[in-house]
Amino acid sequence: MEQHVLVVFPHPDDETFGSGGTIAKFAKSGVPVTYVCGTLGQMGRNMGKPFFATRESLPSIREAELEEACQALGIQHLIKLGLRDKTIEFEDPELLINKIEQILQEVRPSLVLTHYPGHAVHPDHNALGDITIRAISRLPVQKRPIVYAHAFARDCQNGLGPPDIVNDISAMSEVKLAAIRAHRSQSQVFFPHIADEQVKKKQSSKNSFSHMLERESFWTYRFPLI
Ligand SMILES: [Zn+2]
Repeated sequence: MEQHVLVVFPHPDDETFGSGGTIAKFAKSGVPVTYVCGTLGQMGRNMGKPFFATRESLPSIREAELEEACQALGIQHLIKLGLRDKTIEFEDPELLINKIEQILQEVRPSLVLTHYPGHAVHPDHNALGDITIRAISRLPVQKRPIVYAHAFARDCQNGLGPPDIVNDISAMSEVKLAAIRAHRSQSQVFFPHIADEQVKKKQSSKNSFSHMLERESFWTYRFPLI
């Protein structure tokens, strides 16, 4: 059993879409979960449907959605780094590595979930994944947590092979759905058919969405031996 799971992603909703079922499973079995969320997704293009956010109100709306999603998933502790969306790759990496290292020292996670650097599509995903891996690399080998890295670039299996962790999250599908709905400014656009509470899950079967409610895949990050 894990002692503490630390989740590090840049955007509100990354935790839900990619690993919400996995997080919920840990939380339900009594494992404390801390989420370090890099930004408030303030550069997101989605403002709800019909629009209920403006560029000015989007950060506070997404912050409230994030808190609701964390509650749904059972995340007990949320740390907001307050970085600006779409700019993480331009931040001073040393400052961020130090920050994550400090959080690692405080939380002492046995498992970390983050993006697989170089295989996670969005520059923010790759940058914060890289920073997290570099922070963990500073710990002595025997004190390093296991890292489940999330990758979803189309060609990621070419470089990484198949994922070694394939989590059956079907028992958590309702919890994940609740978290997806909490991120309504995003999910209404990506998954209009589920944002509506009335719509049954069955109607969205046979698409990638139903897959999202059944399985979540990760690659155990292999640190270089030197
Ligand atoms: Zn993201």
